[in-house]
Amino acid sequence: MAKSGITCFADSSRTGLNIQIAAEVGLRCVAAPMLVDEYPWGYQVPRAESVKEMAERLAAITEQFRGLVSFSIGAHSPYATLPFTLQDAKKVAQQWGVRFCLHFGEHPYEVAYVRKQYGKDLVDWLDGLKLLDSNTVGFHGNVFEEQDLNRLREIGVNLVCCPTNGALLGCPTPNLSAWGRARIKAGLGTDGPLSSGGFNPWAELRLAGAILGWSRFPEVTPGHLLKMATIGGASVWGLDREIGSLKVGKKADVITVIIPPTKYIDRATVESMLVFGTTPRDVTNVLVDGRVIIQNGKFTSVPEKSILEDIYRYYDGIRNNLSNRRDAHEP
Ligand SMILES: [Zn+2]
Repeated sequence: MAKSGITCFADSSRTGLNIQIAAEVGLRCVAAPMLVDEYPWGYQVPRAESVKEMAERLAAITEQFRGLVSFSIGAHSPYATLPFTLQDAKKVAQQWGVRFCLHFGEHPYEVAYVRKQYGKDLVDWLDGLKLLDSNTVGFHGNVFEEQDLNRLREIGVNLVCCPTNGALLGCPTPNLSAWGRARIKAGLGTDGPLSSGGFNPWAELRLAGAILGWSRFPEVTPGHLLKMATIGGASVWGLDREIGSLKVGKKADVITVIIPPTKYIDRATVESMLVFGTTPRDVTNVLVDGRVIIQNGKFTSVPEKSILEDIYRYYDGIRNNLSNRRDAHEP
């Protein structure tokens, strides 16, 4: 992520180990674990700790990496989390004064599921459970049109568009023009590598520009999308006073990117080059809080080999955990 030019990310894993690795590298992050009861494909998710204990543990990690790490508490989705669990997560998020996050409005399947299971429209149902307010972050929002978006904005809900994930899963194309008209606070995300193939912000920008921009919605310009990827994302997580734009008094989270030589260096041309022509390899330097963490494409703070070893150890931990669970469920 750092080498791609990401300076701050939100991640839903529950252990917190990846947050520690990121903080060691110098990346800013939001630990955003999400509770799951049972996935529609039948996998139950056992919990090692209560949501209250999870929040206490994350608060301790946040304290340890003060300034770089913050946390939120979430629940997976209307179809994989029971109403009681959703409310439990929201209650603990409120107690800690942190964001509550949820995947919602992703696919018509989910809308139909809520209607069948609970007899309500999706937004009505979530609002009825008191899950929606200005501290709520919703990932996806593909299915929403004008009426729902206006209501979500009145409530103050933040949304994150995940273009690659939406395209791969055959979701409806999110109407970013309507998001803009409704003045929803919105950012861009990947939904994670399992559903989008990686952490490539440039791929998300390019796809958003290609399928959601210009040709369909002329107001969704490259400049609009770049704002979603920077100050928009910062607003979604309540970090816009600190990061997201270059202003006196803000933290110096900055990247430099090489663009091809061109005769016309005006704003619109550069924005277009960034959205449609940039890849992670074009990122040269990355600064977080004024500290250079990538210089000329290389890590400055930690040897890359040791980061990879940490990551592989983390993967081994997940794999062992999964195989232990499988063993425990063998008849
Ligand atoms: Zn999702």
